[in-house]
Amino acid sequence: MNANNNEVATLRCESRLAGCSSDEEPGAETMFFSQNVIPKLSVSNRSLEFKQRYFPLTSVESWNDWKWQLRNSFNSIDDLKRIMKLTEKEIMAINNLKGRLPLRVSPYFASLIYDTKPSHPLRRNVVPVVEELITSGSEKSDPLHEKAFSPVKGIVHRYPDRVLFTVTQVCSNYCRYCTRSHSVGRLDKLGKQDFEKAFSYIAGHKEIRDVLISGGDPLTLTDETLDYILSNIRGIEHVEIIRIGTRTPVVLPQRITDKLINVLRKYHPLFLSLHFSHPSEITEECAAACNKLADGGFPLGSQTVLLKGINDNVPVMKELMHKLLKIRVRPYYLYQCDLIPGSGHFRTTVAKGLEIIKGLRGFTSGYAVPTFVIDAPGGGGKIPLLPDYVVEHNKEHIVLRNYKGDVCEYPER
Ligand code: SF4
Repeated sequence: MNANNNEVATLRCESRLAGCSSDEEPGAETMFFSQNVIPKLSVSNRSLEFKQRYFPLTSVESWNDWKWQLRNSFNSIDDLKRIMKLTEKEIMAINNLKGRLPLRVSPYFASLIYDTKPSHPLRRNVVPVVEELITSGSEKSDPLHEKAFSPVKGIVHRYPDRVLFTVTQVCSNYCRYCTRSHSVGRLDKLGKQDFEKAFSYIAGHKEIRDVLISGGDPLTLTDETLDYILSNIRGIEHVEIIRIGTRTPVVLPQRITDKLINVLRKYHPLFLSLHFSHPSEITEECAAACNKLADGGFPLGSQTVLLKGINDNVPVMKELMHKLLKIRVRPYYLYQCDLIPGSGHFRTTVAKGLEIIKGLRGFTSGYAVPTFVIDAPGGGGKIPLLPDYVVEHNKEHIVLRNYKGDVCEYPER
């Protein structure tokens, strides 16, 4: 789909460079991808097989329509039973989710897990197990105290020069380890007045130079709503950069349309923080979505939560980081899993995270090494952690150990 589409877009750009623009409509020069291009839709063999088995009457065009994907997501035990054999632990968990993070899986993501074993990393991302119902003493529903740092609905102002703006509580998939499991998936929408108050708050605080739009997943909103949000934020003079935090290219790559790119690229500098958890998420469709975003000029970074049994070893993490770089996504953060209720079965020790960073640094490109952080419980912000490379440090010198274990000395005078 996207390669062909890009090809057509490239041809159009080339004709424009050559001065052959007579067939273009007024204003088309501002478009990176022409909205008049009819995309040639494609789908990976795996998704196609799934679609033919479970949605035989659905066309490839509908399958590749993100709104069709959202309308047909798997939200209940009966939905999931239609496509996969659930275990007792999964059934019990789903039957007891009332009041907790709901179940939601897009048909696209379902095509990646429908024939997997219960331990499959992608399945564990979205299908709850009974351990999720167990809350330990250290777990809190809002471990980062976002409510306490929220001056108006939707805004979290924790750091001096930037704010988090949660514009929706909806996602196309609900990740079982979500930090905001206390709020996402609820019907608590922001109304027009809430948006206006949030814009006024940002406008009234000249120290805010960076706005991170998150949720929920902002890319589940329509192009028109995103345009409204972004134009209002971009209209505030002191806001220098805007970021969007999203998992959409991974769980609903069909959403990355030419029209979306054309909306987003009006608001540069705009960064996208994408959320990946495992190398198997980087499919043909996901790669095409990320390449399309990169072609749109958006710097792409990735955030990964360290998850027991999913990505908690060096080979898997290294493969993920390498695959990310190949689709032009720069690894950014590796998070120690937050202390949300029912996350005990996902959490590793902190030592495991340090071991992974130690296994990456020096053994692969620096670009492939994310920063390992703990988001401090209680709202203290992100705190970076590094393996201990310092053997000794005083006024005279610092003695260091490199990735191979060799010791070297650097004088302080
Ligand atoms: S996509 Fe993000 S906000 Fe949505 S459930 Fe997953 S981690 Fe939470």
